[in-house]
Amino acid sequence: MSGSGPITDDDVDRLYREIERDAESGGYHIHPDRVFTERLVRGLIENERRYGYRSCPCRLSAGSPGEDVDIVCPCDYRDPDLSEFGACYCALYVSKEAREGKVPIGSIPERRPPRAERERARAEQARTAGAPAQLPFPVWRCSVCGYLCAREAPPLQCPICKVGRERFGRFI
Ligand code: SF4
Repeated sequence: MSGSGPITDDDVDRLYREIERDAESGGYHIHPDRVFTERLVRGLIENERRYGYRSCPCRLSAGSPGEDVDIVCPCDYRDPDLSEFGACYCALYVSKEAREGKVPIGSIPERRPPRAERERARAEQARTAGAPAQLPFPVWRCSVCGYLCAREAPPLQCPICKVGRERFGRFI
């Protein structure tokens, strides 16, 4: 995506279609209201241009990929929010029932832990990452959808939710 000039309708349409295609191919759905969804997509483009990554358009970004990795869209909190509330925090992604209008989409409480808690969790993950395991391969877990794979290194892209390798952490 180009990083200069105003964001055009074409830019928004291109990313909208990319997100919709990836969502549907992974069993996810986006909000049926196109105008609403395009506003969020525009916010993602703005954040990508500002920070270099698609930080959640409904949250305050720290401007550092290391700190914001959990809120790069799709964020680590999307799937639990979809299960519990039928929509992610921004309601860009919605459940099948919500998309079909069978259940209302209400306001979603913030699931992201406070910064200190996130830092503790990251430190713990780093501490255990090198722990020996009695397995022929390490097991990697996608932090967005929970996909697990046992191989030397995580895949370049999650085959389920399409996020990049940087969203995988050592599970075992
Ligand atoms: S999945 Fe929803 S809540 Fe999460 S970053 Fe994307 S738009 Fe925001």
